[in-house]
Parts: sequence; structure tokens; C-alpha cells
Amino acid sequence: MNELSVTVGKPCRPFRENVPYARRARRTQAVERLKLPSDQISNLPFVVVGAIALWQFGRDRASFVLFLGIFLTGFGSAYYHWNPKNDTLFWDRLPMALTFMAILALAAEERLGTRTGAILLWPLLALAVFSLLLWRWTDDLRLYGWVQFFPCIALPLLFVARPSKYSGTSYWLIAAALYALAKLCEFYDHAIYSIGFILSGHTLKHFAAAGACLAILRYFQTRRPIS
Ligand SMILES: [Zn+2]
Repeated sequence: MNELSVTVGKPCRPFRENVPYARRARRTQAVERLKLPSDQISNLPFVVVGAIALWQFGRDRASFVLFLGIFLTGFGSAYYHWNPKNDTLFWDRLPMALTFMAILALAAEERLGTRTGAILLWPLLALAVFSLLLWRWTDDLRLYGWVQFFPCIALPLLFVARPSKYSGTSYWLIAAALYALAKLCEFYDHAIYSIGFILSGHTLKHFAAAGACLAILRYFQTRRPIS
């Protein structure tokens, strides 16, 4: 759930005559917080990592979608932080959802077989797009929630159950740890921002998530086939 809807969705305060003003004030404050210049500029690492990765490894279909997703996340997220609302949030979420689905297809390709990964790629991407369209049409985020949650369950299971045909699994573990750190920074956004009012937790979230993308790029650069 995005920060705006969390803020707007909070219960009313006891002084009812102040509610509309208080709610408006909180909403304005939340929107302004999302428009921090650091929250926009900190998307640049996604563009850089994505561009390098596309140039080096963009020939395979799953890795092309994966790195294009990372590249476009930089633009989608900066666009959202420039003008935070549901219309722009769609473009923030879309490349991220495609990236997650491509990671899942890639893991299936490397651990279950090339054909399995190739068969899964397009339905997974279609599911990601549909979950976001459903959210825009009906305001229901549950399917999108599952699209985010499912890889968090499926990937560890796949990693434990099946060996990869490539070396370098430790880079995926580093990426997972950095992604968890990004989620932590997002959770403590306000607390981190209140320390000096320079960097928000959300800015650090962007850096940690881009670090996870860099770990994935390093995996591609260093992996070797396991015979
Ligand atoms: Zn953001």
C-alpha cells in the first residue's frame, strides 16, 4: 500500500470539527514528503545499473525483461516522486512488478529447465500487468499483493529445492538481503528522516534496492556454468 492511502486511511481524531483540516494537512504533508528531491534523484542508480546490464546481458528474453524493468523503474519511480498520485504510482509499480516476474522466470529457467522458464515468462508478465490494471479499475490491491508476495515464497523454495546450473548463488542472497534492508528503510522512513532532515528512509530504500540490482548484475558478470 502506498504512503498516501495509508495516511488518508487512518482513523479520525476525536475533535471532529478538525478532521477535514487535519486530514488535508496530513495528506498534503505526505504528498510533500514523497516529492523530496533526494527521493527523485536516488532513482538514478536503477537507470545506470539497468543500462549497463541491458547492454551486457540483454540478449536473453528473461534477462532482457529483468534489466529493462530495473532501467524503467528508475524513470517510473522518479516520475511518481515528482508528482505523487495513483496515476503515476501505476508507472512506478509496473516495471517493478515485471522485474519480479522476470526474476521468477529466470530462477525457473536456471533451476527447473530452460523450457519451463521460457513457458512461465509470458504468463507471469501478463499476471503482473493484469494485477496492476485490476488495481486501477477496482481499487483492489489484493492480486498485486499476491504478485509481490508469491516470489518471496517461491524463490527461496526453488533455491533450496533445486541446484542452479550456474555458480554465484551468493549474489542472489546478497540481493535478497539488500531488498530486505530496502523494506526496512521504507518502514522506518519517517524515523530516519527525522535524524537531521536530510535523507529519508525512502531515499535509502532506493539506494538499497539499487544495490540489490547491482548484486544481480554482478551475478550475471561472474556466473559460470556448473558441469
Ligand atoms: Zn520511491
